Amino acid sequence: MRDFKSVMTENGKGKFYLFTELCKGCGLCIEKCPKHTIGWSERLGIYGAPTVEPGHGEEDCIACKTCQTVCPDCAIVIEKIK
Ligand code: SF4
Ligand code: SF4
Repeated sequence: MRDFKSVMTENGKGKFYLFTELCKGCGLCIEKCPKHTIGWSERLGIYGAPTVEPGHGEEDCIACKTCQTVCPDCAIVIEKIK
């Protein structure tokens, strides 16, 4: 069994876990986030492309999990902040 490491960023109502070893930098999560809070990160992913992080734009994460659902590589996990 292999464990992947994640980077956690707290933003608005969500804890945003990004598994950099899985993110290919396709940008789909950026496109689909209803709050436009996801943007490019300086951290590089599996193919050397930039990965993503929340905290961009004017609005915060509402923990809707759309990014988690649309990511084709299961690179995002959202945990709602209570
Ligand atoms: S959980 Fe929803 S609001 Fe938060 S970053 Fe993902 S798509 Fe955007
Ligand atoms: S949809 Fe997934 S693979 Fe594509 S940029 Fe977002 S986190 Fe990375």
